[in-house]
Amino acid sequence: MLLDTPIEYLKGVGPVRGQLLQRELGIFTFADLLEYFPFRYVDRSQVSSIRDMDIDDPYVVLRGTVSNLRTVSSGKATRLTALLSDATGSLELVWFQGLKWVKDSLKPNTEYIVMGKPNIYGDHISLPHPDMELADQEGTTTRKYIPVYSSTEKLKAKGLHTKGIAKLTEQLLRQVHGNIPETLPASVLQRYNLPSRASAIEVIHFPLNPQDITIAMQRMKFEELFFLQLDYQWARHLRQSSADGRVFAVIGNLFNRFYHEKLAFELTGAQKRVVKEIRADMRSGHQMNRLLQGDVGSGKTLVALLCMLIALDNGCQACMMAPTEILANQHHANISRMVDGLGISVELLTGSLKASAKRKVKQRLAAGEINILIGTHALIEKDVQFSNLGFVVIDEQHRFGVEQRSKLWTKSQVPPHVLVMTATPIPRTLAMTLYGDLDCSIIDELPPGRKPIKTIHATDHQRLKVFAFMRQQIAMGRQVYVVYPLIEESESLDLKDLMDGYDSIVREFPMPDYQVSIVHGRMEATAKDYEMDRFKRGETQIMVSTTVIEVGVDVPNASVMVIENAERFGLSQLHQLRGRVGRGADQSFCILMTADKLSNSGRERIKTMVDTTDGFRIAEADLKLRGPGDLQGLQQSGILQLKLADIVNDEPIVRAARETVQDILLADPSLASNDNAPLRFYLSKNQKKLPWSKIS
Ligand code: ADP
Ligand code: MG
Repeated sequence: MLLDTPIEYLKGVGPVRGQLLQRELGIFTFADLLEYFPFRYVDRSQVSSIRDMDIDDPYVVLRGTVSNLRTVSSGKATRLTALLSDATGSLELVWFQGLKWVKDSLKPNTEYIVMGKPNIYGDHISLPHPDMELADQEGTTTRKYIPVYSSTEKLKAKGLHTKGIAKLTEQLLRQVHGNIPETLPASVLQRYNLPSRASAIEVIHFPLNPQDITIAMQRMKFEELFFLQLDYQWARHLRQSSADGRVFAVIGNLFNRFYHEKLAFELTGAQKRVVKEIRADMRSGHQMNRLLQGDVGSGKTLVALLCMLIALDNGCQACMMAPTEILANQHHANISRMVDGLGISVELLTGSLKASAKRKVKQRLAAGEINILIGTHALIEKDVQFSNLGFVVIDEQHRFGVEQRSKLWTKSQVPPHVLVMTATPIPRTLAMTLYGDLDCSIIDELPPGRKPIKTIHATDHQRLKVFAFMRQQIAMGRQVYVVYPLIEESESLDLKDLMDGYDSIVREFPMPDYQVSIVHGRMEATAKDYEMDRFKRGETQIMVSTTVIEVGVDVPNASVMVIENAERFGLSQLHQLRGRVGRGADQSFCILMTADKLSNSGRERIKTMVDTTDGFRIAEADLKLRGPGDLQGLQQSGILQLKLADIVNDEPIVRAARETVQDILLADPSLASNDNAPLRFYLSKNQKKLPWSKIS
């Protein structure tokens, strides 16, 4: 197809520029260049005066008369200069290349529209290599809105600054005119009144007015989100129409004995509902892929255990993957304790296990002697072989990508059922874009008897009061966390903060009346475990730590969480940390310590925390506050792959795209209609790129 032509064959590109475009901008084909969009536009009619122009503007538009053309030589270098004057002042235009051509074509004492990036050189301002047009031709042959493309130094050195790229694009558009195929079904274009792909692309590179740009961009964003949803929903559709899931027909001895003999409390209504949803999947004959959302402490882990027991009852093994060793250890300890006496073998596999121990676990696993394996990333290593893996739980999923997830299901001939649990709730739009391939279950109810945590904001001035409060709580038999931020770039500085903090706590809370634990990421695993255990057993009253305790740690007697430099944490992290308390019957407290002065967003975060304990509300606020920029981490890690749309501002488009795909698949499950031909084409082209799509 014409659009698949390698970029070097475009007139004006060639092998050298072609290579550069590939390496610098990822532009390999004609299609890639068409989809390389301007990041902004300059309105040619918005002319600045020379006196008032913004020196920092990357592209100013001026209107003035050109005079004093001069060739200046200094050493070997020659340059051409001219004076541009308007009613308010003048500045220098300068060229270093193509002097003869410029000199011959410029008309002195004539009015021009002049555009470019101002450059300060010594005490005067110049415009190097400006873009120029005769002023009286305005509106006839020229464009009012000029696209500005981002470029790189290497590309600029080969003439591909924004104007160079614009020229290539213009040339390409002329060449492919009438050959940009439509990718969306006609009915979809009609339903939302969207422009065709060809016209949207043309408008984005050649806009006539700003409204057109908005409409064209919406069309392209819709397209992006639509195909993301199609990937997800088609994968789901295939999963549900193929009968390759294990059928867990029975609820057996293990489940029943655990439920009736071991479980000390009633399940919440929400837990019961979710277990039922999962049960239905496991019986359906189709492979389950389900996201389990629920607030911190809502009892997700327990639900996961119940489902693992069903897998065991049906003759399968189960495994659980956690993002950190601390968490894996803890799950292992908790689950071992909970199923004690049922004759189940629960083992642990993490990176820090001794080689001999690892080998033994792997042997026993392959021999089917292990029923439940709990671990970290170590679980997805190649040489970990199950004898009969039927159920996979992935805890705190947002740290794992789709690829890592998919590695787990290659560990079984028949793909296992998969349950993904998030640490905290995520907003709906994010869930739809990140986990659109999963069915979703929500636990929206906390176990009974939990008192809402009281959250208090305190500044450094109130530290003595906070210490007094801690003393009072400890006197009542409670335990206290004191958490410091640890952010990677400034790790050593933060570590010093932590150690200083620890020293001052030890001074305020001296032995033998008080015992203080400390845990941070630079400690040996054994030392960490030792300190953690002392705190869990209640031998120490205060745990000073970094965010290593962020997820999952469960000490019901701890009722006070003091977060130092709370303004440096993100909302979801604060919520996670707060979730470490409030697990027992006592009233719990979270104290957010900050400096006196806060940034706006810092103040907003603290206020949100003080105002609500609802994880779903916090997740929404978090997404709004952080904005799409901060989702870049997700984007770079390949977890969130959106080029144009952003899920905060484009929420309505996310919803529309999802609904549209749903409607299409409902009406035409095999996409057989003519109208849906473009979708069949897309899927046939894309299936190879998505090895996980058949199973995930
Ligand atoms: P999550 O994984 O959602 O953060 P957990 O499963 O770790 O939550 O549960 C948090 C705590 O609540 C655990 O101590 C667990 O034993 C307890 N728990 C779970 N479900 C219930 C329930 N229905 N009633 C009382 N306590 C519960
Ligand atoms: Mg948990």
